[in-house]
Amino acid sequence: MPFYDYRCEDCEKTFSLFLSYSEYGKHAVICPFCGSNRNRRKIDRVGVARPAGSLPSPESMQAAIEGTEDPRALGKMLRDLQEQSGESMPPEFDAVTGRLEKGASIADIDRDFPQLTEDPEEE
Ligand SMILES: [Zn+2]
Repeated sequence: MPFYDYRCEDCEKTFSLFLSYSEYGKHAVICPFCGSNRNRRKIDRVGVARPAGSLPSPESMQAAIEGTEDPRALGKMLRDLQEQSGESMPPEFDAVTGRLEKGASIADIDRDFPQLTEDPEEE
């Protein structure tokens, strides 16, 4: 299960939430310090709790791509995941990561790799 770091825009404290992929995006994020719901994802500190050596799932890539405002940071995060896993990635992963590292916009990724950003439950 991934955890997501948030920063409260009201009290400026940071906190982490563990959310399932299905909860993410639907779950109301409430600051545990002041109760504010004005919180922002901190994409640069996203971590994925997973067994060592396992590959990031398509769902985790999808969540990361949709949540990011910084393509290069996301690209670096995906590249780090790849290096940590020590396994080869599917071609789409390399392609998306390479594009992000070059600063491609999320809209470009969405257009070229629609299978990564569309909701699989809405087939
Ligand atoms: Zn707060």
